[in-house]
Amino acid sequence: MSARCQVVIIGAGYAGVMAANRLAGNQRLSESIRVIVLNPVADFVERIRLHEVAAGSRESASVPMRSLLHERAELIESTASRIDTEHRKVHLSGGHAALDYDILLYSVGSTQAPDKIPAGAYALKDPEDANRLRARLSQLDPGSTVSIIGAGLTGIEVTAEIAEKYPQLRVHLISRGAIADSLSGSGRHAVMKRLSGLGVEMIENTDVQRCHDSSVITSGGDTLRSDCTIWTAGFSAPDLARDSGLPTDALGRLMVDESLSCPQFPDIFGAGDAIQAAHTVAGHLRMSCATALPLGAHAADSIIARLDKRAPAPLSVGYMLRCISLGRKSGLVQTVHADDQPRRFVLRGRLAATAKAQMCQMTLSWIRGELRRSGSYSWPKGPRPAEAK
Ligand SMILES: Cc1cc2nc3c(=O)[nH]c(=O)nc-3n(C[C@H](O)[C@H](O)[C@H](O)COP(=O)(O)OP(=O)(O)OC[C@H]3O[C@@H](n4cnc5c(N)ncnc54)[C@H](O)[C@@H]3O)c2cc1C
Repeated sequence: MSARCQVVIIGAGYAGVMAANRLAGNQRLSESIRVIVLNPVADFVERIRLHEVAAGSRESASVPMRSLLHERAELIESTASRIDTEHRKVHLSGGHAALDYDILLYSVGSTQAPDKIPAGAYALKDPEDANRLRARLSQLDPGSTVSIIGAGLTGIEVTAEIAEKYPQLRVHLISRGAIADSLSGSGRHAVMKRLSGLGVEMIENTDVQRCHDSSVITSGGDTLRSDCTIWTAGFSAPDLARDSGLPTDALGRLMVDESLSCPQFPDIFGAGDAIQAAHTVAGHLRMSCATALPLGAHAADSIIARLDKRAPAPLSVGYMLRCISLGRKSGLVQTVHADDQPRRFVLRGRLAATAKAQMCQMTLSWIRGELRRSGSYSWPKGPRPAEAK
């Protein structure tokens, strides 16, 4: 180990930047650790706003990274191409020298693998996808059909945003099961009412298998017109962990324990969409920014405990709300139990749209708060381990 412990963080999204700020801002450790953050670009991408960019409600979802990242965290603009666990090195693309690590935090987020999306469909995983989709939507003639495949929360947000912004287009939301079925009865009712008010045609219990330039083909063999098909399902983790020989689950997520460290490689920690933590503490967690922020903070706490030679605390992350935008003028706030199961109370309409807009701003405020004062960010505790699904 070098004189200072070198902590390398791969991926500067919600989890990575939260962790970097908590570590780099820790006064007690400031002389003993060096925090290096790797990210392909010098911007932070507010992924939770990509549907706004795609629909043209917002110009960009990028924020200068240095406005969010602690000054003691060094940023390297590069992509990790391989993790060499034997020599504790991260290999970088673009001719950069490999980086040594004493401790590694894996926080590369999620992606939509090309082989999981039918050729011809638009993805929405990053700003490039959002801009490509934005260009396509702006070219469509009135009366053209846009199909959104997948009616999870992202699919619903994308659908409402496009239907509100482009009333001259026909918008279809196609779901393998029932739309918004993870919400309470009143939450689902509010979503369906809003979408139908925006003129969205909702097609449930339909599996789309393929898509062509102007149609989608269902597993039942039906051909539905679609001039622009948007795939919001099929999120998985990047291949980096799997390709580096690290233990991964079926979605390619790094498998970590209750403290977010990898049992086979204890110097490697993980946070955010790209990991699957022990089921005892994480069975109820879903890929989301609402999860990535506390996971990033908890991973930093576990790393600090390791450096202090203390036992780390087990992860405990719970939920309180699901905030869903339904265009710019409406929204839904679904109250939930700590294990993310819906409660009965919902907030809808303009008030919910305002709450959702504030929640999006809060994500950056929490990251900046952590930049100003390490340890300031806190989150709701999870269900007791036995209650986690
Ligand atoms: C349209 C849309 C709307 C959404 N809305 C919501 C919402 O309302 N609420 C919510 O909670 N969640 C929402 N999400 C999900 C949320 O955006 C993600 O769960 C969240 O971004 C995960 O955070 P993360 O830090 O794990 O990963 P990310 O934020 O994706 O960050 C990962 C970072 O790692 C970088 N990276 C990847 N590979 C490498 C590599 N090899 N080397 C170096 N860097 C790398 C990436 O470029 C990126 O900067 C939405 C997602 C989308 C797409």
